[in-house]
Amino acid sequence: MLNLLWFLLPVAAAAGWIAARRSGAAKPEAFWNYSTNFHEGLNELLNDSGELPDELFDKLNDSGKDTAETHLALGNLYRRRGDIKRAILLHESLLDKTELGEQVHSAALLELAADYDSAGLLDRSEETLRTLIKTGKQLPEAYGAMLILRERERDWTSAIDVARELEQVTGDARHSLIANYYCELSASAKSQGYLAEARELADDALEQHEACARAHMLLAELAMKDNQYNLAVEHYAKVEALRPELMPDIIDSRFNALLKSEDEQALRDFIDRISSRKNAYSVVRTTRGIIEKIDGADVADRFFKKQILQRPSLKGLRDWAHDQISISKPGEREKVQVICTMLDSVIEDKPSYQCGRCGFLGNQLHWRCPSCNNWDSVQPIIGVEGE
Ligand SMILES: [Zn+2]
Repeated sequence: MLNLLWFLLPVAAAAGWIAARRSGAAKPEAFWNYSTNFHEGLNELLNDSGELPDELFDKLNDSGKDTAETHLALGNLYRRRGDIKRAILLHESLLDKTELGEQVHSAALLELAADYDSAGLLDRSEETLRTLIKTGKQLPEAYGAMLILRERERDWTSAIDVARELEQVTGDARHSLIANYYCELSASAKSQGYLAEARELADDALEQHEACARAHMLLAELAMKDNQYNLAVEHYAKVEALRPELMPDIIDSRFNALLKSEDEQALRDFIDRISSRKNAYSVVRTTRGIIEKIDGADVADRFFKKQILQRPSLKGLRDWAHDQISISKPGEREKVQVICTMLDSVIEDKPSYQCGRCGFLGNQLHWRCPSCNNWDSVQPIIGVEGE
């Protein structure tokens, strides 16, 4: 609702201005008189594909802060419509009007940086933000915009610096965010084979934010590469303790570490712990496979049936139906096969992950939501249709 209001206010104001222009009203107050001509003005604004009306700029010559704010809102609207050229023209014209004061000037700089960013002119956007930062105005917004730029460029080292400056400006800690940047650097070093550096960077992440599950996941993977299986098991246990919802993402690797550590007691204890509670589908599926290897198919099947009855899911039902194919009598087998095919196609269309902030749906774990850009907000979907 607030978003809608935010959108409608500048539209309404601009529509009022257009209506005022049409009626020949001379007084600035008419700008806000949009109630009777709202739809007419809105249509004109949204359908208008011509040049930016000169009157918009002329209004700045003889009006004050209210009109400047409306121009800022209108520029924002143009940008959202994808009309970046008009947005830039409008915001640059505001910057020329020094008589409008520092507040309008800094707001126009911030909007102009967003215009350049939308146009893909990242260097210009950064330059504009640096100009704004030098003025000492709107620093949290300026550093916030700079941070988004850095993230988009995947320049994580600079992002850490900007985040620390943002911490100083606002007084609010950004430990979790900075830890994620270190994790990005660590993951990059790991993928390039610089394992010692990757380990140091993951440690740096934990130094920033000791509850960083991703850093433990990276350290577990690095420990596996070093054949330090017990250490990997410890890090995977930390991941579960910090973010239990990520168990489906680490269960295969965790069992792999336990099997390679050759600590049979630890493996048994882990299986017992899983058996004594309800689990996500992926945890059940993997554990069933391990039990089958060490205790046989009958024990594994009993574990599986108990688990899927405790926490029903489409994926569990699909696996159970597939099990029935081989033990069905001739004549019934085709019917079971139809059920399996239907379940396969239903599950195939279901996303596996969802962002808790914006609702983005996907099929892989993103540490930073591709839609709303929040960190650590995407997680496996839990429930009948998911895990
Ligand atoms: Zn999101």
